[in-house]
Amino acid sequence: MKIADRCVVSIHYTLTNSRGDTLDSSRGSNPLTYLHGFGALIPGLERELVGMVAGDTCQVRVEPVDGYGERNAELVQDVPLAALANIEGLEVGMQLQSRSPTGQVQTLVVEAIGDDSATLNANHPLAGEVLHFDVRIEQVRAATEEEIAHGHVH
Ligand code: ZN
Repeated sequence: MKIADRCVVSIHYTLTNSRGDTLDSSRGSNPLTYLHGFGALIPGLERELVGMVAGDTCQVRVEPVDGYGERNAELVQDVPLAALANIEGLEVGMQLQSRSPTGQVQTLVVEAIGDDSATLNANHPLAGEVLHFDVRIEQVRAATEEEIAHGHVH
């Protein structure tokens, strides 16, 4: 069966960045199983899998616009260290949770610490990255009516 909307698809994948660093991989554990056509994968990957069948392999290059977006400079802010005084062991690379003005929880990464301020980045960690997926299709089946109604795999 070919991958199309309303299919349940299992894939093994390895994700690398342009420098060849492995960022994520399903290999060595369970394949990723998702409902195709419901936005479960980033658009640039999901689109390329259409029409493939179990056993097929492919390499997909995803530009930031079809992945996690471009890095937005407005999401990088300098915050006075005094405002972060209650955070223990503040260091570069640390992830902080904060609530945005609209009430959403954001993850901020500490990018730099200066004498009196720290640079916090609220972009997705993969924003601005060109992503390289190495994919093998493991299984494709029709979704059940219940799965389609729920929008996820059972
Ligand atoms: Zn359900």
